[in-house]
Amino acid sequence: MGNHVADLHSLTKFQELLKCPVCFNFMQSPIYQCHNGHALCSSCKARVLNKCPSCRQRLSNIRCLALEKMAESLELHCEYEEFGCPEIIPYHTKLMHEDSCNFRPYSCPWSGCPCSAVGNIPLLVSHLTDYHKAVMFNSCNFKLGFLIGDLYKHQRYKCAVTIINCFGKHFCLHFDAFLIGSTPVYMAFLSLIGNQAETGNYSYSLEIGGNGRKLTFEGSPRSIRESERRSLESADSLIVLGSMALSLGGETRVPMLEFTGRIWKAQIPG
Ligand SMILES: [Zn+2]
Ligand SMILES: [Zn+2]
Ligand SMILES: [Zn+2]
Ligand SMILES: [Zn+2]
Repeated sequence: MGNHVADLHSLTKFQELLKCPVCFNFMQSPIYQCHNGHALCSSCKARVLNKCPSCRQRLSNIRCLALEKMAESLELHCEYEEFGCPEIIPYHTKLMHEDSCNFRPYSCPWSGCPCSAVGNIPLLVSHLTDYHKAVMFNSCNFKLGFLIGDLYKHQRYKCAVTIINCFGKHFCLHFDAFLIGSTPVYMAFLSLIGNQAETGNYSYSLEIGGNGRKLTFEGSPRSIRESERRSLESADSLIVLGSMALSLGGETRVPMLEFTGRIWKAQIPG
């Protein structure tokens, strides 16, 4: 027990040595040093105009092979160990692994206001329902309406996330409304609170109709990780433009768009 703590302690100290004193990132080979032995990373070496940031000595191309070798032999726990990642990764590929680690916590998908909440799935679901007052449906078939009248009057942007709890997974139905010029655009799509690799297991359909007309979208959900960088161009949403929205049911006294949706398990080929 005592030994374990000591090891951890020296490992942390060692890791500290590998942090560049300029950018505070972990240094990757080649690592450089000045004549007095101050180390720094190669991208910072170029940026400090060849003057050592610690002692102002001129920097030449002296590599710090000892640190490079130490880094090579180092294996570290994934940054997301506390979220369940069991991986032990060579120092040099740590950042690459963490970038695509499946245990990386999720960012809050609420897009209407800046929200910095991050967490695992249960934490995020309770954050959405408690903090953002998101509604949750416990069924793979759902029907929900969004009021659209106030887009013209009060706001230029409106969004909502509804949680669909289905097949033991949590999906988010995103509804975004905004103006492009003076044309209102309404966009709805589904994302899975899960990793990219799982999204292919599910399909969904969204339908909006009224006055004898019907618009349907069918596809696979995105991963909530992609929603972090989503755009209108991604073309995997049900999109309704201004006047069409009115003819699809918005012509009532309280303009509203009503969606009917369904999620099902996709046929895995073979
Ligand atoms: Zn640096
Ligand atoms: Zn120096
Ligand atoms: Zn990991
Ligand atoms: Zn949030």
